[in-house]
Amino acid sequence: MQNIRSVSLNSIIEFLEKNGEKPYRANQISDWLWKYRVSSFDKMKNLSLNLQEILSKNFFIDAAKITTQQFSDDNTIKVAFTLFDNQAVEGVLIPSDKRVTACISSQVGCALGCKFCATGQFGFSRNLSAGEIYDQAFLLAELSQKQYDLPLTNIVFMGMGEPLLNYENVILAINWITSQKGMGFSTKRITISTAGIPDKIEQLAKDNIKVNLALSLHTAIPTVRQELLPVANKYTLERIAQALKFYTSTLKKEVTFEYLLLKGINDSLNDAKALINYCSHVASKVNVIEYNPVTNLPFEKSTPENTALFLKTLFAKNLNVKLRQSRGKDIDAACGQLANKERNT
Ligand code: SF4
Repeated sequence: MQNIRSVSLNSIIEFLEKNGEKPYRANQISDWLWKYRVSSFDKMKNLSLNLQEILSKNFFIDAAKITTQQFSDDNTIKVAFTLFDNQAVEGVLIPSDKRVTACISSQVGCALGCKFCATGQFGFSRNLSAGEIYDQAFLLAELSQKQYDLPLTNIVFMGMGEPLLNYENVILAINWITSQKGMGFSTKRITISTAGIPDKIEQLAKDNIKVNLALSLHTAIPTVRQELLPVANKYTLERIAQALKFYTSTLKKEVTFEYLLLKGINDSLNDAKALINYCSHVASKVNVIEYNPVTNLPFEKSTPENTALFLKTLFAKNLNVKLRQSRGKDIDAACGQLANKERNT
């Protein structure tokens, strides 16, 4: 049995011809799979019963479904998606003034083990397929319409997993999310967030992938970064800056540095100066994010005084900086809090 959403259109055409069916049926099947996102072949109403049966004997559809929803006091909704093999990932729907943002996952778990992140504590299970990534965006867009009566406006790959370590499936999912044959979503409103995988950052530029790119920087001091993000032992800040320069000059786009402000770890004047210096090498803007405590992790939110001084130092150098308040804290839906608690504890 093959996962039909991982099979190319040409291979589906070949399969149809071998089974005495007309090639144009492949486009009809594609519409059912992506545009209408049906979860079984018997819902493909313009195909004959015979063809529905042939398809179901040879292929399966790796449809994800929403199995739980938690509602925050601030209207953020956290959902658990159950996958075809009964594993689960989480996604979050975040409404703000004029936007509704879907935060989606790219892997079941994550191998990078960032010290401040709940997902990172549970290790890696598997990559999500393009279809499973697509389903999260599609289902959250439906939920946005149903719960807020608003269309989804933004998609961010900031849920579970490192998207650039599942490069092919993430890019394929983005192709379907942006295609008129899929969700027809704007490329400009999609953001990939990475802990910093330099060769894949360069690959985005070479492949002309014009979504937005965010780097989870969190400190511009190498030794501190090696402590916080074990992947920094493999890829230095220098190597990442080199990849980002290639990315920004090739695509003529700036990157966003995400900076989670942690009390006593990365919130001093010295830390601010290191960040200013790093920013001077790459066309960038900075999102400073307040930290949300994760049970059993030894980090605290920076004090209001340190946060104010940190921001003032950045503003004084005319950096493009925003302070981001995290959302959905009461339901563990904020940055770094996704961990499939229902399944893992
Ligand atoms: S912060 Fe992102 S890259 Fe780091 S462990 Fe968590 S999910 Fe993985």
